[in-house]
Amino acid sequence: MSASLEALLQRWRAIFHRRRAVRWRGTWLENGYCADCRLCCGPQEEAEPFPMKLLPAQLGSHLEEDFYLLDATTACLDRRGCRSCTDTGCRLPRSRRPVACGLFPFVLNKNSLLLFARCPASFFTPLSHMELVGRDAARWLASLPREDRARIALDLPPATLADRYLNLHMRIPDDSTS
Ligand code: SF4
Ligand code: SF4
Repeated sequence: MSASLEALLQRWRAIFHRRRAVRWRGTWLENGYCADCRLCCGPQEEAEPFPMKLLPAQLGSHLEEDFYLLDATTACLDRRGCRSCTDTGCRLPRSRRPVACGLFPFVLNKNSLLLFARCPASFFTPLSHMELVGRDAARWLASLPREDRARIALDLPPATLADRYLNLHMRIPDDSTS
């Protein structure tokens, strides 16, 4: 384990003394660790912004108020964090959050589901349970129109994948009707 990963594990151990629930809620992942974590909503270490593509139905004049934007249809997380992150969590209703927020710590990269290894849920939840939750998320992703799925999929560089993500070897079944 790298030094930074070990430091993060120590941090999570100091905060989380018991396991918390992680479950799929039909269209989003309920993660009991988020309220005391905010790692993926707050200021990011990386210089490269993390893109969060929005679906066509989510576009509108509220975007500039909700997010830092990479372009007219892509919110992002960067060293400033997310514009909608507050001390009490995300201030947006779920319908206005990027799909990526409801999937995390799972990430859709190309056509595969990956697991963000630094999330406390990934540290403390048995992998077998995360795989079950991931399968539910994958089934939901497969039900989206193919063009929406293509729109939100990331194409992360190999070095980032190796450093931050677990490959679950879980491809999204393509049963979309679009
Ligand atoms: S890293 Fe995991 S627990 Fe922390 S805010 Fe993100 S999804 Fe929630
Ligand atoms: S929209 Fe909400 S859940 Fe998504 S990154 Fe921003 S604060 Fe976090």
